[in-house]
Amino acid sequence: MSALLQADEASALLEATINGELPDASGRFGPFGGRYVPETLVPAFERLEQGVQEHLHDAAFQEEFQRELREWVGRPTALTFAPRLSESWGAKVWLKREDLAHTGAHKINNAIGQAILAKRLGAQRVIAETGAGQHGVASAAACARVGLPCSVYMGAVDMERQAPNVDRMRRLGAEVVAVETGDQTLRAAIDEALRTWVTDPEGIYYLLGSAVGAHPYPYLVRELQSVIGKEARQQMIEQSGGLPDVAFACVGGGSNAIGLFHPLLADDIELIGVEAGGTGDGLGQNAATLATGTPGVLQGSYTIILQDDDGQVQETHSISAGLDYSGVGPEHALLQATGRVKYISAGDDEALEALEELCAAEGILTALETSHAFAAARNYAKENPGAKILIGNSGRGDKDMPTLTKYPARTRSHAGA
Ligand SMILES: *Cc1c(COP(=O)(O)O)cnc(C)c1O
Repeated sequence: MSALLQADEASALLEATINGELPDASGRFGPFGGRYVPETLVPAFERLEQGVQEHLHDAAFQEEFQRELREWVGRPTALTFAPRLSESWGAKVWLKREDLAHTGAHKINNAIGQAILAKRLGAQRVIAETGAGQHGVASAAACARVGLPCSVYMGAVDMERQAPNVDRMRRLGAEVVAVETGDQTLRAAIDEALRTWVTDPEGIYYLLGSAVGAHPYPYLVRELQSVIGKEARQQMIEQSGGLPDVAFACVGGGSNAIGLFHPLLADDIELIGVEAGGTGDGLGQNAATLATGTPGVLQGSYTIILQDDDGQVQETHSISAGLDYSGVGPEHALLQATGRVKYISAGDDEALEALEELCAAEGILTALETSHAFAAARNYAKENPGAKILIGNSGRGDKDMPTLTKYPARTRSHAGA
């Protein structure tokens, strides 16, 4: 348990999270979270917070959101038993198939939810930022669906690296704004999006992509993504006759993980978040924020971040762009501090190996991000024979083919064997 919390404090905070009492009125998950933003941004955040309070659990919003999840996103996504993987691991492995959701990952749950919210708040247009482009694509699709113009801010360097996603966003009707300032990657894109938001907080809605940032985003994104865990819980009971022993999810900012974990917090299920271990333990070699980071403020939230001794935020490395982030959502920081969720990491090589194994065993090309969860689950199975394992299969790996082609497949086909 973290030195940040006393034992009695930790159990009280855990109970409060389970009961839906967190974040508190100031947007805090115990010591974490809050809203650390410049004065100029305060009115925009306050307006959003009010809007979330008013609409998110309102019957009309929920009716529209649930209908879009069903008819446009394709929910509920399947829960799939993995018989060949189970046999090879000596476990019972179940996959929650977010790769089957529209646009190929869980990100669309959040994007469509916030796009509907934007419309209800009377926004004239939506802005979003993206690094690898996946959130940009989901935002562009969701905005097209609700009929709002969408501008996606993207670092010039990222635009070059992720050219197919830039094209995809444009085809989905979004404007992609090249950010030439700062590091010309995600951080600069966020700064630019925030600068734009300030100019017209009533007309613009800022659609954030993970359970990170200043209040109310970590709460809003968790609520929208919790559909994953709610469905999985019910499907496990119906299809497997009971709850799993353990659930795994990969953690970048933490939105698919909190969506899977939050509805399972009160259950007797071990919960394990898996970060990117990259190429090693050194600063800059990984994105294992919770495993190796320290408390600090990043993007308006007090959480665990990767920083050097002077508080300079560190660059990260991961083979998967979606996990390549130097912070993590504040609710995860709390769940780690209370001991309820364990956070470990899997390296680039382990992730690649797990991806190949899943492909060959079950015919599922999973995302490189997701592969980290598989790698960790596989190690767990070795130490816990017969365990019933649920894995959040956050997205599909088609987008990763350019990376994967650099690593020739080790798996041989049956015909060639
Ligand atoms: C973006 C992404 C992630 C990481 O984001 P979280 O907010 O941590 O969920 C994980 N898996 C896939 C497939 C993604 O596209």
